[in-house]
Amino acid sequence: MGRVVFGVALGCAVVTCAIAAVLVGRRARSRRKWRRAVEVLREFEEGCVTSIGRLRQVVDAMAVEMHAGLASDGGSKLKMLLSFIDSLPNGNEIGTYYALDLGGTNFRVLRVQLGGRGSMILSRQVECRPIPQELMNGTSEGLFHFIAVTLKQFVEQQEDDDSEKKPDEKKVLGFTFSFPVRQMSVSSGILIKWTKGFSVEDAVGKDVARCLEEAMTKAGLNMRVAALVNDTVGTLALGHYYDEDTVAAVIFGTGTNACYVERTDAIIKCQGLLTNSGGMVVNMEWGNFWSSHLPRTSYDIALDEESPNCNDQGFEKMISGMYLGDIARRVLYRMAQESDIFGDGAYNLSMCFILRTPLMAAMHEDDSPDLREVGRILTESLQIPDVSLKARRLVVRVCDVVTRRAARLAAAGIVGILKKIGRDGSGGVASGRTKGRPRRTVVAIEGGLYANYSMFREYLNEAVAEILGEEVAQNVVIRVTEDGSGIGAALLAATYSSNR
Ligand code: ADP
Ligand code: MG
Repeated sequence: MGRVVFGVALGCAVVTCAIAAVLVGRRARSRRKWRRAVEVLREFEEGCVTSIGRLRQVVDAMAVEMHAGLASDGGSKLKMLLSFIDSLPNGNEIGTYYALDLGGTNFRVLRVQLGGRGSMILSRQVECRPIPQELMNGTSEGLFHFIAVTLKQFVEQQEDDDSEKKPDEKKVLGFTFSFPVRQMSVSSGILIKWTKGFSVEDAVGKDVARCLEEAMTKAGLNMRVAALVNDTVGTLALGHYYDEDTVAAVIFGTGTNACYVERTDAIIKCQGLLTNSGGMVVNMEWGNFWSSHLPRTSYDIALDEESPNCNDQGFEKMISGMYLGDIARRVLYRMAQESDIFGDGAYNLSMCFILRTPLMAAMHEDDSPDLREVGRILTESLQIPDVSLKARRLVVRVCDVVTRRAARLAAAGIVGILKKIGRDGSGGVASGRTKGRPRRTVVAIEGGLYANYSMFREYLNEAVAEILGEEVAQNVVIRVTEDGSGIGAALLAATYSSNR
């Protein structure tokens, strides 16, 4: 009997030990995996350092590349395209002007009535239309015909509503065309290539302003293109209209780009073409900026290699709305491969662009104690249910690293422009001071990333102040300028139809 009892007790003890061993083993394994997930984050964080020293190197590299791009065509990855805009709106413009904004899946037509100094913009009407898919891949004639007809309907409707209409008068249009264009004058420019899903091949190499004017004439619309610009130049124009200290404009949307006012004598490559001795707006096409000082990780390299434009738009791929979500997704996928913190749904993280930047921003900005929004987005948008609170915290950390790096590099880019034009307070040839007094400097910003992602905005502003130092930063204003790509073009149409 005693033996039986002893045997049962021994058996129980063995089973208990075995269960305990399994549990301890499982816990140890799970701890190891958790540690791996945290290591992935740490390595990523280390690869993304944007110390003040690193940012200053990026500032210098931006200024150096700007010099090189202004010295010769092909001298830098920055194209530094001339806009021929040497005069920006200042609030004195008067009259009714139209604008057409083409640069994505939608195009917009606008009409603004300007009242001059003191009254500024009296009224504005806007209509937005999607571009039918077949026209984005069709012929130049088809695309511009569609635009001209839509514009004509808009103009007629506006005039019907207007008591002071002058139907026979030639109307003036600003055309915002946000694709790479080699400008020949303020109102003409040749399309270099299409981007953003457009492939109307017979338009490449043509003057897009003339294509539009021909279509307008055929449609019976008495209108001319007074200014052909892109969205950055439009934003600079609107910024300057409200505040004459505005010297640069930057877009942070799906993509990114910047323009600024340069002294004409610094634009060495086109001296023969430039008559004015003051300043001219230069479209940097800064999305293609590159420097070995940019903190690049294996995730950035993989994203670039898998993109349709490999080796192109390197800066844009680290800082713009199109890509931030996907960088975060790649890091999370690596974590999922090395641990089991995302359970069975982790496979979804292998899908490129499944995590869009607005969703990433919403997770990043979730301030609920149990990160409810992070859990909801993982479950509903990525089909990854039941992620633990600890793992949700890691997700937020990843979003933070991606966005902090992006915003700080963007800030370094902006300070690079200020350095180039002597507004960074560092002295040099054109110091940011006039007779000892610092000059006020405004940078206009447009785009959904900056406007809607408050953490991006905060990190960017903080980094600008950190790089410039408090004293100089007090004189630099970063200002959201909404709808520069629409209204800005109408303002430029006003400037260039009354001035000359
Ligand atoms: P576009 O660049 O196409 O002209 P927008 O300036 O409106 O358009 O920018 C749209 C981009 O802004 C989106 O592709 C997205 O990356 C980013 N974005 C929009 N909303 C948010 C948001 N809430 N949080 C973060 N990014 C956003
Ligand atoms: Mg835009």
